[in-house]
Amino acid sequence: VASPEKHLIRRHRHPELNDQIEKVLDSLKISDEQLIHMMHILEEEMNAGLSPATHKKASVKMFPTYVRNIPNGTEVGQVLALDLGGTNFRVLLIDLHGNSKIELTSKIFVIPQSIMIGDGKHLFRHLAECLEEFMEKENILNSGTCYPLGFTFSFPCQQESLASARLTAWTKGFSCSGVVNEDVVKLLQEAINEKGINAKCVSLVNDTVGTLMACAYKDPSTAIGLILGTGTNACYIESLDRVGTWDGDYNEPKQVIINTEWGAFGDNGRLKHLRTKYDEEVDISSINPGKQIFEKMISGMYMGEIVRLIILDLLQHELLFLGHRDTYSDYKAALYNRGGFYTKFVSTVETDEGIKFSNTRRVLEDIGIQNPTYDDCAIVQHICRQVSKRAARLAGAGLAVLINRIGKSNITAGVDGSLYRFHPRFKRNMERCMESLVNKDIKFKLTLSDDGSGKGAAMVACVAERIFEHDKE
Ligand code: BGC
Ligand code: MG
Repeated sequence: VASPEKHLIRRHRHPELNDQIEKVLDSLKISDEQLIHMMHILEEEMNAGLSPATHKKASVKMFPTYVRNIPNGTEVGQVLALDLGGTNFRVLLIDLHGNSKIELTSKIFVIPQSIMIGDGKHLFRHLAECLEEFMEKENILNSGTCYPLGFTFSFPCQQESLASARLTAWTKGFSCSGVVNEDVVKLLQEAINEKGINAKCVSLVNDTVGTLMACAYKDPSTAIGLILGTGTNACYIESLDRVGTWDGDYNEPKQVIINTEWGAFGDNGRLKHLRTKYDEEVDISSINPGKQIFEKMISGMYMGEIVRLIILDLLQHELLFLGHRDTYSDYKAALYNRGGFYTKFVSTVETDEGIKFSNTRRVLEDIGIQNPTYDDCAIVQHICRQVSKRAARLAGAGLAVLINRIGKSNITAGVDGSLYRFHPRFKRNMERCMESLVNKDIKFKLTLSDDGSGKGAAMVACVAERIFEHDKE
């Protein structure tokens, strides 16, 4: 079967344009050698994050999470969880039965844009209101019991314990005032108390940690949690003797989950050689310029936008939509719309196999390009493939660094996030590049962690609650 790239080269009505298109797309290509070089840089940056002498200035923060144990399936309890920081905000009620059985009910709430960039007080008040509405619906609002609550808060936090976490920076389109440097557990608890809700936040975890925990519940060789969604990040189990910044006890198990916050890799300029003008433009017009450089090359919040900028570039070079010169300016209008090409379109376009391009056609018509030609579809699909493949290779290389560092013979990574879940070839592209990047004596596996961040938060909360009750006695 010929790859669509081949179709493109063979069937383009203006074959002389193919070279020019390839030239524009060349900046997106990252060779295996370049990936291996990047892995060395990432490893250095991780070590800088773990060392007390360099942690403060480090881009990749490598935060110790205070989660030391992975669950074993015997956890018992009924806990609430809040999951903030992805595509949706969710409230969950989770029953852990202690025999590896989990029951779960949940409700999705919308966080309006105005709250995402408004006053932090309003954000936490909104979370408490959603919690109240959910508890009411579940008939547990006035039950007289105080429910333990696990908070999945998917932003970089410096933790001082399981239940205290200072936000170091907002990411992914959030920028509420008065929250950076504050303890978000405290802010949440204050909002909960203000409403008189009978719930106590006993732990905060990153979504990567929740994902690792939920996956480990079923597969004890799990040592990594990875998110490829609106944002990207990974956590892994590290031995305490390699965590220079560790300030807790050295009891068994001598390990702690490290939240790498690898999305910030490159914020100090070390990825400059791999970035394209499209990456720079995405960054400059973002809400957090100069921040989350690695994330902006990979995750769902930015992928569609990179594709849009490339389409626009080809259009401006008169390499795309050639049959539509008469209505040219209309397409431009649609494509000049920032955020107008959704990342889900990238997934849709890439589900097309063969030469009919029915999905691609639908997407292009959606953004205002009527009757796209075969060439138009083939080129747009080619762009999507290049952009998502680059993202998959970057994420795969990052994951390979963690796997090689852990160095065990069998390693499972629990993975979650909309990009990984819905993109038709992201996983395959990641695995393919990892084959040559992971040490030959290691067997690795990527497992979709269904509902991981919520369930995992509940498991941590269960354990935390037991410790909390124990301390009270
Ligand atoms: C945040 C991480 C989070 C990741 C995935 C990033 O923007 O900084 O804390 O884990 O997104 O949700
Ligand atoms: Mg999520």
